[in-house]
Amino acid sequence: MSNEFKSGLSRRSFLRSVGVASVAAASFPAFAAVQGAGAPRQGGGMGIGDMSNLGGSLPSDVVVISMNENPLGPAPLALDAICRTASMGNRYRGDIIQKTLSTALDLFGLKRGYAGLFPGSAGPLNLALASNLGPDRPLVYADPSYEQGPGIADMAGAPKFAVKLTSTFAHDVRSMVAATPKAGAYYIVNPNNPTGTMTPKADIVWLLKNKPVGSVVIVDEAYHHFSNDESCIDLVAAGQDIIVTRTFSKIYGMAGLRAGLVFARPEYFQKFRTVAPLAPSLASISITSAAGANAALLDKDVVSLRRKINADNRSETLEFLTKHGYTILPGSQTNFFMVDVKRPGGEFQSAMLGEKVAIGRTWPVMPTYVRVSVGTKDEMAKFQAAFVKCMDQPSSAVNGVVSKYVPALNPSELFRGETSFG
Ligand code: PLP
Repeated sequence: MSNEFKSGLSRRSFLRSVGVASVAAASFPAFAAVQGAGAPRQGGGMGIGDMSNLGGSLPSDVVVISMNENPLGPAPLALDAICRTASMGNRYRGDIIQKTLSTALDLFGLKRGYAGLFPGSAGPLNLALASNLGPDRPLVYADPSYEQGPGIADMAGAPKFAVKLTSTFAHDVRSMVAATPKAGAYYIVNPNNPTGTMTPKADIVWLLKNKPVGSVVIVDEAYHHFSNDESCIDLVAAGQDIIVTRTFSKIYGMAGLRAGLVFARPEYFQKFRTVAPLAPSLASISITSAAGANAALLDKDVVSLRRKINADNRSETLEFLTKHGYTILPGSQTNFFMVDVKRPGGEFQSAMLGEKVAIGRTWPVMPTYVRVSVGTKDEMAKFQAAFVKCMDQPSSAVNGVVSKYVPALNPSELFRGETSFG
């Protein structure tokens, strides 16, 4: 366990975590090896059997703060549950999956049938979007925002209406409603990726009241745990036309383990089958991931502890950047932020890679802003040094050479290994 993670824990929860870790280490040699290796390396490697170069991408000494992952890895209670469940891997054990679903339903006060457990949230998000879009059912979404909405609209042959964020970088729900009278779905990413900013819940409630009949509001809460604002899951219980997605990839540090939750009225899940009749067989989650997700949901400390660790590292970095006169996009409540590099973002991203720091990508409407994920304290110190060095170089000659943007070398959270077949 990294020192940073230890220092972020209360004494009680630290002792409890250590207790869990040592029991697991005694029972599972693999667990002991992972714990002994210190903080799991970002970008795939774990210190044992390091596979970080398998994607043909980044050397293991590169700081990876490009994909909004959590450098702390799965929390000890989740890791323990995963290790314990792995030995039952010869069984189908649907009960483990049902247990995780029940935990989620209990936690959010929802009735049976109102939640779905999937391998990650990207897959069910695709189903939610595709099943509510079509040539006469347009998508309304924000720009800049996460590209999954418009990407699926294109696949569904649905018209797209991109609406600018407000001056506080919230979704402009009034302009979104005004965009078209025929919307099939409104995609709200809250907090938003890439800006990290919140759309007030009152605006989402307004949208639900004022949207056209038959349309749905899809609220992507992938980063919700990092903020202090209210979730929209209670609006599902209230029977509203809303689908809320959550992931275990971010605050819970389980991106590669693939677990996500969807909350919606049962008829929306039925609709998923209209676009992907075979989805249930393809979207089955492994029992290890389900058990890890269950333990994560039941962990009373992990969210608040990690929210604080992330907020501290984010504030420290943003203060550094502001003090040095750089322009940041204000208001991030997530594990990433945007900063203006005053030159094409892709070029700067490549220059940073030359300094062994992989930062996130840029968005067409803000071409000189790059998105940076929040890593550990040490990683952010390396980021700061590399950032100043690259900013001190004139554009197009960072590191003395004209840097070329090579997308394949700049990892993005949009790639989750989807090309594992074909
Ligand atoms: N939604 C947003 C806003 C994201 O940024 C991501 C991934 O980074 C996802 C959904 C999908 O994440 P996952 O499939 O890992 O749950």
